Amino acid sequence: MMDLYRFMGIEKKVYEFGCQVWEGLRERFDQIDTISEYNQLKVLKAMQENKVSEACLYGSTGYGYHDLGRDTLEKVYASLFGGEDALVRPQITCGTHALSTALSGNLRPGDELFSPVGKPYDTLEEIIGIRPSRGSLAEYGVTYRQVELLKDGSFDYEKIKESIHEKTKIALIQRSKGYQSRPTLSVNRIRDLIQFMKSIKEDLICLVDNCYGEFVEKEEPLRAGADLVVGSLIKNPGGGLAPIGGYIVGKKEYIENSACRLISPGLGKEVGASLSVLPSFYQGLFFAPIVVAGALKTAIFAANLYEKLGFRVEPSGTESRHDIIQSVELGKKEAVLAFCRGIQSASPIDSFVTPEPWAMPGYDNDVIMAAGTFISGASIELSADAPIRPPYTVYFQGALTWQHGKFGILMSLQKLVDAKILTF
Ligand SMILES: *Cc1c(COP(=O)(O)O)cnc(C)c1O
Repeated sequence: MMDLYRFMGIEKKVYEFGCQVWEGLRERFDQIDTISEYNQLKVLKAMQENKVSEACLYGSTGYGYHDLGRDTLEKVYASLFGGEDALVRPQITCGTHALSTALSGNLRPGDELFSPVGKPYDTLEEIIGIRPSRGSLAEYGVTYRQVELLKDGSFDYEKIKESIHEKTKIALIQRSKGYQSRPTLSVNRIRDLIQFMKSIKEDLICLVDNCYGEFVEKEEPLRAGADLVVGSLIKNPGGGLAPIGGYIVGKKEYIENSACRLISPGLGKEVGASLSVLPSFYQGLFFAPIVVAGALKTAIFAANLYEKLGFRVEPSGTESRHDIIQSVELGKKEAVLAFCRGIQSASPIDSFVTPEPWAMPGYDNDVIMAAGTFISGASIELSADAPIRPPYTVYFQGALTWQHGKFGILMSLQKLVDAKILTF
């Protein structure tokens, strides 16, 4: 084994340090395997209950009327996540689009959208109109309000209570911290928050941005009282196989509203050919619990490895996990470049290219991105990115297998050693 690692560019001392870190994580990894076993059974149960058949894999063209595979897949998602109905489509182009569809489908002029957990994910700012944008909810007369989390990361119940009023239609709850430095919400914390908000306004629609959270825990937010959950298929639930897509699951009426926005009023869920994506949607969902487990192990391995080397990591090596994102504060630009180049050179695709920091639309600083993925931009695959600014924090996520994740993290460390940023 060590010979092969050495042949692939990992020195003995780096490999041995990695093994030592891994030894301390066996129990933790066992717990992750138990959760993935539970979720694997849940996926199977949903597929069996809804009688997924060979015919479901064929797909449709044109208008896509009576698309058995598409309609059955939506029933599978509804059963699995605990909703009445679902919209799972290749016509939903990404997570941002899924969120935009669910929000604009269910909000009307004069309504207010409310975030009880602070600023939402960057791309949501333009959907809402926090940053003025063409076609934003603000342009359609939907107002927005948010309440920050308290300093210790807890909910500001008092301010939340003051902020919910007659016009408040949807509460947007982002489960993952994304690329912010607040804690990610556990499903239990989401339950507390929803119970509190519904005690103030019973008919408030609680919508959870579930990106990066699927299958990390045993239960999903609909079981915690949410009305809608929304996510991307090129993250967790696509299992690395879905080449595009998003999902919205929840109350029937809200799914119908979303479908009428996605497709057209009057057409709704009945239209939308699945083309040839269904096998990857089904099989990706089938693999997803195992893939998410690999991504979680990779994140926990990296957190412990870099923590041992004296870097600040978030979440910490021992904290409980509610999403697959990991950050490491590397302290200087050269370290960020070395880390990202390690991830890139460990990839199955484009391992020979060197990522460089570059100006990107929507960012104030240059950004470096490392990704050698089968599906372009899929962040369930091992990928890392970092804005080039103090404190030089790199964010990474994914790995389709734990074995690849381990190699990628060891390679990031090797590049730090090669650049003489670290010595053993
Ligand atoms: C990724 C992500 C989104 C947006 O998804 P895209 O597929 O990148 O458009 C929204 N919210 C959160 C929390 C995310 O992690």
